[in-house]
Amino acid sequence: MRDIKINDEITLGDNKFLMIAGPCSVESEEQIISVAMDLRKIGVNVLRGGAFKPRTCPDSFQGLGEEGLKLLSKAKEVTGMAIITEVMDGDELPLVEKYADIIQIGSRNSQNFSLLKKISKQNKPMLLKRGFGNTVDELIGAAKYLSMNGNKNVIFSERGIRTFEHSTRFTLDISAIPVLHERTDYPVIIDPSHAAGLNRYVEPLALGGTASGADGLIIEVHPDPPSALSDSAQQLTVPQFKDLYLKVQKINNIFGKTMV
Ligand code: PEP
Ligand code: MN
Repeated sequence: MRDIKINDEITLGDNKFLMIAGPCSVESEEQIISVAMDLRKIGVNVLRGGAFKPRTCPDSFQGLGEEGLKLLSKAKEVTGMAIITEVMDGDELPLVEKYADIIQIGSRNSQNFSLLKKISKQNKPMLLKRGFGNTVDELIGAAKYLSMNGNKNVIFSERGIRTFEHSTRFTLDISAIPVLHERTDYPVIIDPSHAAGLNRYVEPLALGGTASGADGLIIEVHPDPPSALSDSAQQLTVPQFKDLYLKVQKINNIFGKTMV
């Protein structure tokens, strides 16, 4: 697998495991700073948080926009964590690029080829979510767009695909991990939160993904999930996340992987 440098502290590569955590959306200064400080104490080095949110309905919370990016940057200043956040639109790219250490491409934009081409022209690492209606071939095709201008710092994220099964929000495709490893040299990060859709299923999916050879996890954690403005049912509390983190660490010890 290729090495992907996130910042001076963190490089993802062979025998490394990247833990990313944070709320679905940045909601306020207090929310993002408090959860960031708690996560950093647990050992997390990359903070997630959406400022531009791809919501199914326009009357749902759309994110704080640039204000959200500024709050992420404050959290970075306070904790020293790297920041990952989603870009939804080419016009917002320069702004997101300014604040993010990793640029996230959401499931719904995974095949937005004009956006992928624009993102391919910048130099930051890119986390590409699998479109929930996309095959592995289509995901690899999307990664080719991102790398077409020489930036090969692509990180895949399997976040569940749409199937006939509705007891979880999406169906986590764990087989995508060995398949992507066989066919590319990019790391694969599992997102159990969006696959599960429900808080109580997040841990088993996370542990399964880790044991199946994932190179990391991206997990939604909120200081008070019931009050969350988006994805409230699937976000973990900080103590729930801490439990999960310790279990993931044990699995990684078996495989001789270091958590970064
Ligand atoms: C997210 O990470 O908040 C998100 C919207 O994920 P996805 O694009 O996988 O639905
Ligand atoms: Mn979310």
